[in-house]
Amino acid sequence: MTSHDVVVVGGGPAGLSAALVLARACRAVAVVDAGRPRNAASAHVHGVLGLPDLSPQVLLEVGRAQVLAYGVDVLEGTARTARPRPEGGFAVTLSDGRVLAGAHLLLATGTVDELPDIPGLAPRWGRDAVACPHCHGWELRGRAIAILGGGRADARRALMWRQWTPNLTLITAPDHPLAPSDLERLGARGITVLDGPVTEVIAAADRLCGVRLRDGTSVPIRALVVAPCFRARADLLDGLGLRPTELTVGGRVVGTVIATDGAGRTAVPGVWAAGDGASPLERVVAVTADGAAVASAINAALTDGSHPEHSAGEP
Ligand SMILES: Cc1cc2nc3c(=O)[nH]c(=O)nc-3n(C[C@H](O)[C@H](O)[C@H](O)COP(=O)(O)OP(=O)(O)OC[C@H]3O[C@@H](n4cnc5c(N)ncnc54)[C@H](O)[C@@H]3O)c2cc1C
Repeated sequence: MTSHDVVVVGGGPAGLSAALVLARACRAVAVVDAGRPRNAASAHVHGVLGLPDLSPQVLLEVGRAQVLAYGVDVLEGTARTARPRPEGGFAVTLSDGRVLAGAHLLLATGTVDELPDIPGLAPRWGRDAVACPHCHGWELRGRAIAILGGGRADARRALMWRQWTPNLTLITAPDHPLAPSDLERLGARGITVLDGPVTEVIAAADRLCGVRLRDGTSVPIRALVVAPCFRARADLLDGLGLRPTELTVGGRVVGTVIATDGAGRTAVPGVWAAGDGASPLERVVAVTADGAAVASAINAALTDGSHPEHSAGEP
């Protein structure tokens, strides 16, 4: 077993940013990463000042090299369990049997996007089927775009996407009819509304070229906007006595997060969470800042000597 001040599980932008701040504070840090960042399906990371259009893999390679230079232990692998140790702190066991001990544990494990179960959609995800306009809107601007949905939140998303294209269609879900006031606002912006649901996403020559509706009609489009369900990666929570919490936006449950106090502290002293798994920040710059802020709070806790202590068998 190797001991560190902080074990970080997840070496995406949030985890690596936290590791950088902690290592520069002369803390002993280990990062375990399984190499599946949320944006892995996309060719480029957009909108990060100073790093124009790197691939997600290259961005993380740069980050890993940066933290390695400060002596961070970076381990490739999957953390299978995390548990409190009787003598205080936490033990993280990797799937290959290696064990890391840390006085503090930071979960930067990210989010899984659960897509609607529509044939043909998954292979397009992160390419021409996307969620975030600020990540992908510029690259898709001017194209014929459809938005999957219905309901108030989706009408608002359609109005937002109208900024990037005049050729926009909102395809409503049967269980989420639009209010007359929304229909009026959409019509005023020239947004077409069609009754769904979508039963198939059609691609040709590795490009999205349309969607099929339940009545058999096909709608020619070049990009699709979907709202996945955001699920915090929560595999390690059980052993720590934590559970994922429902995430609600506009009264609708849109996924789960690892609940924190806003400064990264979970309900278990010494266990922290940062990045998309802790709140739906959804942008590399935002999670990088979050990782750095949570790292500063952990460093302060280490300075104060607030090492978490647990009795044997206590989660
Ligand atoms: C398709 C798509 C495209 C995007 N494009 C952009 C963009 O252009 N610009 C932008 O700013 N944002 C973009 N985003 C958002 C961005 O990807 C996320 O905000 C960011 O990746 C979140 O960083 P994170 O460190 O919290 O989590 P992640 O990047 O998901 O990293 C978490 C890491 O933890 C690892 N991990 C999880 N569990 C374990 C475990 N048990 N053991 C070991 N490792 C584990 C994972 O393998 C992963 O490497 C995009 C998102 C999506 C879905």
